[in-house]
Amino acid sequence: MFSYRHAFHAGNHADVLKHLLLIATLRHLQLKEPAITLIDTHAGAGLYRLDGDFADKGGEAVNGVVRLFAACRPATGAPAVQTTPLIDDYLDLVAGFNPSGSLRVYPGSPFVIERLMRAESRDRLKLFELHPTDGKTLSANIAQLDAGRAVVVKREDGFEGLKPLLPPPADAKGSRRAMVLIDPSYEIKSDYAKVSACIQDSLKRFATGTYLVWYPVIPRAEAHDLPRKLRGHAQRAGRPWLHATLAVGHPPLGPDERPGLTASGVFVINPPHTLHAGLAEALPLLVEALGRGRGQGHTLEHSG
Ligand code: SAM
Repeated sequence: MFSYRHAFHAGNHADVLKHLLLIATLRHLQLKEPAITLIDTHAGAGLYRLDGDFADKGGEAVNGVVRLFAACRPATGAPAVQTTPLIDDYLDLVAGFNPSGSLRVYPGSPFVIERLMRAESRDRLKLFELHPTDGKTLSANIAQLDAGRAVVVKREDGFEGLKPLLPPPADAKGSRRAMVLIDPSYEIKSDYAKVSACIQDSLKRFATGTYLVWYPVIPRAEAHDLPRKLRGHAQRAGRPWLHATLAVGHPPLGPDERPGLTASGVFVINPPHTLHAGLAEALPLLVEALGRGRGQGHTLEHSG
């Protein structure tokens, strides 16, 4: 357990998909004024250096966010790939962490969310991270923000920690709102069953919350079944859903080469009604910018 460190993967194609959806979803929720309780059950370290030791070993951002910037916003010449409002919003947010212009820092989900929080609406962010080192790094990174009680880091199990936070507190007008990101590393097989049980339980506690679940698209029965199970939970609770996948494929491989993770998905329960149209525009362009060959493509389905 705990061999997974997100720093090896920060800014890869899976982060691009996940964070683009996260931003689009939160932006839409924020069109209404009441406070939102924001919960990230598997937060990671928060900020990652793209030129650091971890990134050097994996270098996954090179085929993710770095490649997307090069395609959509090249330093010289015309862009090779068009952008869309969702892609632009994502690129702008990442660029905001890199004022010098070169991509050195990648914001993980806690910092993506924190950047969008509204002080005037009193949005609140609860972060869970169980890895001892990443938990400490996350606490230190968040402390730099001076966010006070608006952002809380707990070095606890996010699946368990989520339960008492739902339903979220009501504001003065009785409004309760929450957005939950569930993004485990799935390094242990039981994570798939835990995610499914967590969504089932969360919908009982707070059916109108917006839930985003990231998962890897890999040849493993549990991974294949997860979106089907999540769709079942949403349907039984009578809630709308959306499911997007992005596959970057891979170039021809040598006999001893492995492609690594080439595809992932995000399942959203109670998605913004605008998300489907935004993704229908963005996903083909993400494939164009990030696709690497065999197996590349995207899927997008929703409850309508
Ligand atoms: N959400 C982050 C982002 O988008 O930047 C990435 C998170 S990474 C995929 C998953 C993280 O969950 C790892 O840092 C891992 O240490 C942590 N983790 C694993 N099991 C956990 C649990 N039960 N509760 C909280 N964190 C956990």
